[in-house]
Amino acid sequence: MRKILLTKKLKADNAKLFDGIPDIELVTVGDGEQARFDEHIRDAEALLLSTAYKMTKEVIDGAKNLKVISRTGVGVDNVDVKAATEKGVLVLNTPEANSISVAEHAVALMLAVSKQLVMYDGELRAGNFAIRRTNKSVDIDGKTLGLIGCGRIGRFTAEKCRAAFDMKIIGYDPYIKELPGITLYESIGEVFERADYVSLHIPLTDETRNLVGETLLSKMKPSAYLINTSRGGIVDEAALARALKEERIAGAALDVLENEPPKADNPLLPLKNVILTPHSAALTKECSARVEREAVAGICDYLKGDTPKFVFNRELIK
Ligand code: NAD
Repeated sequence: MRKILLTKKLKADNAKLFDGIPDIELVTVGDGEQARFDEHIRDAEALLLSTAYKMTKEVIDGAKNLKVISRTGVGVDNVDVKAATEKGVLVLNTPEANSISVAEHAVALMLAVSKQLVMYDGELRAGNFAIRRTNKSVDIDGKTLGLIGCGRIGRFTAEKCRAAFDMKIIGYDPYIKELPGITLYESIGEVFERADYVSLHIPLTDETRNLVGETLLSKMKPSAYLINTSRGGIVDEAALARALKEERIAGAALDVLENEPPKADNPLLPLKNVILTPHSAALTKECSARVEREAVAGICDYLKGDTPKFVFNRELIK
């Protein structure tokens, strides 16, 4: 029997993708079942991996039978890809399934901070209807969106912001030379200086860890907002909290934090000019189903002897 370890219960439609594949055993572990995960990963041939578990070098080395790790999402930062590649383990991801949903969330966060939705809601419920006279909200129309990372999600966000709000789009992405409709700058600092909204759409890597710290934040306009739907570790949260507390920037909206869930002493939690969502951008009903389907399809392709569509460590299939 070929063991397939699933770190989430599959939707019925997606589970059906395994129908007809012979000699397989599906084992499901839920969030927080680390001991069961450790037991089953040892002899699993394929793993469907959510963000709930980490595939470190140690875990990969101990997984003697493992041939494929399929991430339900685009980020593979919970997998030691180098260790997997050295062992010949394919790492798959689902880069196309969640882009639209995350872009929508980035736009929703821009709207929420600009229109002060959370603050106004809280004040109204507390009996302070007069808050409406304080002109706390701002318009988005015609303003400048600065994208850090102009890949799939960055570009979808740009399209929506251009279509809905006639925004001017600028960006920084050292791996892209030219993009229609987006003015690219060679220096990330210039984008931080010019943008009314800086929106992060880059992977978490050694190069991007803590990229957005004191230096870049100090370049932002006092009226500008920081939006992060990429990964928490990219933003230095202590530096951001200082900038928000001292009102050196207008606000921030973050779907991702360095520690998730955040520790009780996270300096962002007490601040009113930041909106936080629980890494939920890609967890819409539609998106969860699409991501899961793409991740399962990758494992099925492997089991049938086909090349999966989205192989992150492509060097293994050349
Ligand atoms: P993508 O690979 O299509 O785009 C990433 C872009 O970042 C690429 O164009 C790349 O050239 C660029 N880039 C890499 N390093 C850079 C750097 N140092 N500076 C500037 N640009 C750099 O990926 P995507 O689908 O657009 O996703 C972007 C990120 O969003 C993912 O890496 C993931 O971490 C995050 N994400 C978050 C959620 C969520 O639920 N909040 C869901 C999906 C993805």
